[in-house]
Amino acid sequence: KDNILKVHNLKVSFQTYAGEVQAVRGVSFELNKGEVLAIVGESGCGKSVTAQSIMRLIPSPPSVIKEGSIRFNGTTEITTCTNHQMEAIRGSEIGMIFQDPMTSLNPTMTIGKQITEGIIKHKKVSVTEANRRAVDILTLVGISNPEGRMQQYPHEFSGGMRQRVMIAIALACSPKLLIADEPTTALDVTIQAQIIDLMKNLAEQTEASIILITHDLGVVAEMAQRVLVMYAGKVVEQGTVDELFYNPQHPYTWGLLRSIPRLDQPADSELVPIPGTPPDLFAPPPGCAFAARCPYAMKVCIETDPEHRSVSDSHSAACWLLHPDAPRVDRPIEAGG
Ligand code: SF4
Ligand code: MG
Repeated sequence: KDNILKVHNLKVSFQTYAGEVQAVRGVSFELNKGEVLAIVGESGCGKSVTAQSIMRLIPSPPSVIKEGSIRFNGTTEITTCTNHQMEAIRGSEIGMIFQDPMTSLNPTMTIGKQITEGIIKHKKVSVTEANRRAVDILTLVGISNPEGRMQQYPHEFSGGMRQRVMIAIALACSPKLLIADEPTTALDVTIQAQIIDLMKNLAEQTEASIILITHDLGVVAEMAQRVLVMYAGKVVEQGTVDELFYNPQHPYTWGLLRSIPRLDQPADSELVPIPGTPPDLFAPPPGCAFAARCPYAMKVCIETDPEHRSVSDSHSAACWLLHPDAPRVDRPIEAGG
């Protein structure tokens, strides 16, 4: 299959006054063209840092990509692009939707200006043509009276409408890849559902591949084809949505899924906390990072970090329970959730 993105052994660290935090510790995955891939995990698991690294927007305190490769669209190596090259890629080939549109929209600039700015910069078209495209894209994201709305400022839009505008900006230059980091978290439940519907339709209509970062498994079930589960800076399980929901292999995934009583009732699907806390990423443990919280932890888990083992061509997990010599345990998740 053609991939739009190939991340290999990505390691990202933050330098802090207290030392180096290893936020992303060897993440590898591929994103196929037209695919929606969800990355799930608790806050601090490295999912946002992974996404920001793809955009080369990793935040301060000074952070650095220590190792690994981020190959975009076959030939572009993101880790070695100049800042100038990245500016051309961001907003044009890779679009990003953030959690809180209020902080990412410019309050002093009309919505029309904010949408057309990127189109004019990246597509080198006239103002008239950019305006025409902006009207089209606002219509596409479900904003009525787009000509009138373009004259307005962000504060004149509701939270849900602002998120639609953010999506319009992200899509304005027809990016090949869209990264959405908790796109609905700041919205109330009804509006969340509308935005998810919109993103789902856009994913089907446009050819953009999407990375969806979320802690909401209901959103994953609705939108994604494949899922990466991250824990303590690593991918601990990956597979298709069906594989992850119906045949999960990693005890951390079991913990996450316990918060969804039924797949057909995604309303209360926010992750419930799993007892304990993730390890200190100043000094990650030598063995499995989940061992301190895992009811199945064995001696080997504490000593040696498990490698990924394949469950199917599309499904793998990093857990010693998948070793052929491991004791069999009762899976706490019944088939069918
Ligand atoms: Fe639990 Fe061991 Fe699997 Fe880690 S490797 S999740 S500690 S059983
Ligand atoms: Mg985040």
